[in-house]
Amino acid sequence: MPSSTLLPDTKPHTVIQVPANATDAERMSAVGIDLSKYSSIEDRESFEPIFINTNRDISRRLLSTYSNRLFGKITNPTMITHIVTTRCNYSCGFCSFADTLNAKTNELGLEEIEKTYASLGGNLNTIVYSGGETTLHKQLPQIIEAAYRLTPVKSVYIISNAWKPDLIFQITHRIKQSCPDLHLTWSLSIEGPKEVNNAARYTQKSTWDAWQNTIDTMWGLKILRQKFGYQQLDVQLCTVCGPNNVHALDDWYEMVRDVLKPDKWNLNLLRKSVQMSNNELDSWESRRKSGQQEPFEKKYLEITQRVREDVLSGNLKFLYHTQSGWEGGMKSAVDLISQEDNRRILTGNPPAICCRAGQDGAYIGSDGEVSGCEEFANHPTHPKSFGNLRDYQYDFQAIWHSEAAKAYRKLAGKAPECYGCTLESQKNYPSILVSFKHLWQAQQLAQKIH
Ligand code: SF4
Repeated sequence: MPSSTLLPDTKPHTVIQVPANATDAERMSAVGIDLSKYSSIEDRESFEPIFINTNRDISRRLLSTYSNRLFGKITNPTMITHIVTTRCNYSCGFCSFADTLNAKTNELGLEEIEKTYASLGGNLNTIVYSGGETTLHKQLPQIIEAAYRLTPVKSVYIISNAWKPDLIFQITHRIKQSCPDLHLTWSLSIEGPKEVNNAARYTQKSTWDAWQNTIDTMWGLKILRQKFGYQQLDVQLCTVCGPNNVHALDDWYEMVRDVLKPDKWNLNLLRKSVQMSNNELDSWESRRKSGQQEPFEKKYLEITQRVREDVLSGNLKFLYHTQSGWEGGMKSAVDLISQEDNRRILTGNPPAICCRAGQDGAYIGSDGEVSGCEEFANHPTHPKSFGNLRDYQYDFQAIWHSEAAKAYRKLAGKAPECYGCTLESQKNYPSILVSFKHLWQAQQLAQKIH
């Protein structure tokens, strides 16, 4: 029988603190960073820029979306989550794909992806590359270059477990030279202080220091930005808030804010579907009905509230390296609005953000399956695939306008899996981006961010 409340893990962990006026060198030393072991910090291969005259301005994308909506037309996605592989060299229990990681799949190759990208339509602004471990796809840089050549994408996020810092530096050197007008953000996963992160990661060797690799990568990317003058490059740390790290999250937040200082820190709530498959909890529905919150849910509410207060008071700075300061302020504000909505959901209130998965947001699986979001695509009993690219000669538009797409997009926000959904990049961000109301809110908030 499921227990109603999981007792938090209380294994000890190391807390690292530095004086408020510590220099970068002192902060690096406090967390054991030695970048001299990575050759790509000093040297880089040269790549020619891709010359292409594409207007990547988001306001143009938004106008097209609004006018299509006004005339009842199906809009092309502004944001896509592209799973490039389901292979991973770690096997973390909290992963959204924990049940299907490393299951044999027939991944799309570069040529197939190029054909697909050529038919994505003219509204695309953001692609989130996820997995599996994204950097295990050997053609990841070529895939990103194809997106730059063939679509109006402006912003690319790559989610990675940062297992090989030098590889990430090499990919960064290449993309920052070949796609000069693209905003690249690395989203590096890390679950808390060293002991907590390394226990949660389930790597193949007990001596593997996944924590140090992530911290080295984060710092190394900041150094590359400075040393090589890379514009529009960000590095964020992402932590999943769940039963296995709840006891350490207060200390972790302070370490992130005061010692590590990434450009941005994301705290994501453990996915609803993963909560049930890997933890003996009461169901989400019965927890919400009884008004009961698990310790990790309470911690999410507390810490995201602290983040909001710290961002608005200037104690925590999200330093987006965007083309303009306004764009950076708006990105920070959008994050706060997204977390606010997740807090509403956790406290049993209806979401204020209306899901537009399958309209403004799209999901492409590693084997070519297209859907509105990952929950729709991978539902264990009722998958809602719009179609597979291989069956449609890689014509995304043909799938986007198929009968299955028409039927399933109507269920966005209304299907049973939508209750309690906190998928930031598939539910919250695409919807905020195309909503006058939320953009106005973001504008108001952005003005208060120091
Ligand atoms: S609410 Fe969540 S699960 Fe439902 S369609 Fe939107 S993104 Fe998918």
